[in-house]
Amino acid sequence: MKLGKYSIGTGDRFSHQGKAQLQSLLKANETGLNINPVWNKSNREHHYVNSQPADTRKEADEAVKALGYSGPYFVDADHINLDTVDSFISVSDFFTLDVAAYIGIPCPKDEADAFVASCKKYTGTLKIPQIDQPFVVTTELLQSITHKFLASIQKAAEIYRYITEKKGEGCFITEVSMDEVPSPQTPVELFFILKMLADRKVPAQTIAPKFTGRFNKGVDYVGDVAQFAKEFEEDVLVIDYAVKEFGLPEELKLSIHSGSDKFSIYPAIYTIIKKYDKGLHLKTAGTTWLEEVIGLALAGNDGLEMAKSIYSEALAQKEALCKPYADVIDIDPAKLPSVEEVKAWSGKKFADTLRHIPGHPDYNPNFRQLIHVAYKIAADKGEAYTGLLEKYSDMIGKCVEENIYDRHLKRLFNL
Ligand SMILES: [Zn+2]
Repeated sequence: MKLGKYSIGTGDRFSHQGKAQLQSLLKANETGLNINPVWNKSNREHHYVNSQPADTRKEADEAVKALGYSGPYFVDADHINLDTVDSFISVSDFFTLDVAAYIGIPCPKDEADAFVASCKKYTGTLKIPQIDQPFVVTTELLQSITHKFLASIQKAAEIYRYITEKKGEGCFITEVSMDEVPSPQTPVELFFILKMLADRKVPAQTIAPKFTGRFNKGVDYVGDVAQFAKEFEEDVLVIDYAVKEFGLPEELKLSIHSGSDKFSIYPAIYTIIKKYDKGLHLKTAGTTWLEEVIGLALAGNDGLEMAKSIYSEALAQKEALCKPYADVIDIDPAKLPSVEEVKAWSGKKFADTLRHIPGHPDYNPNFRQLIHVAYKIAADKGEAYTGLLEKYSDMIGKCVEENIYDRHLKRLFNL
């Protein structure tokens, strides 16, 4: 089973927007692209909204059928590990093995020594084709990389083998993720991480490192765009070399998590993947839930009331909602509007404040990030919320499609 060159992780908290999401990808594919849709949802998201992995499969199959799409598509068990994978096995065909928690955990000395010894030929100056500056690889560097990453890659291999026993070899896409950590992995670290994966015969088709800079949820990239571009380009070249050197799947490509709304780095990403004719996987998830709230606000009446009540409850529960996302949001509480203020807003004002249009005078990234993490509030409202999604499905579907196509795909693929 192979993932296409370009793929987008759509995610969808409440599993209602599959058709609108697919529609936006098909619109991009009309230009000659062949983007594979991947519906990704993590165990954490399922837990908060009280849904099951089978619901995501159902959503994907229904969307594909309704739109008569005949290309490849996938259902991603996002950020799973051995404790959480079981309920995803029968319905997923894409598994994101999250081994971030094992970074820095020591592994047995003989195994660490064996890995360092196996890398002897790369010590000294390591020249990767098309990267100007060769990497300087010392034994100390190898030991530190081994100490940091070997245990996590062994865990990835363990999860991979577990899934293979249940599903069979070649019957699913494997992604390895280590993005949910504070410090980024450098290109030279990525090179040896890929060797560890190849040594353990994990046929990863996508890898999600932590990139430099902040990938806050639902808002633009915060960081040095030039530095990001330099590292991203080196990562692309490291992967190209590692595929040949270690015999990894030739489809292997980078996966960008929390990739929605990172508008300021899209041009650099596009330029680099075009320059080397490489693929890309980009995951978005919460951005669709925000469009649901925008659509409800624009629908007015009970839709707008629902949007406002989600905000007022989110403001009251701010600390609890933000806590699990502390590393991936930056909210300035002084810039959050009061409940009274929002009560007086029109649907348009609410939508303009929430919608991510860079430079729009009403756009408020603090408001947007708070709503981003507030999906649990909507989940707790149950049918009161999902009923409105159905009632205003036309308006919401339009918002979801416009967000993914106009604001994301057009920028990412320079359409
Ligand atoms: Zn992720």
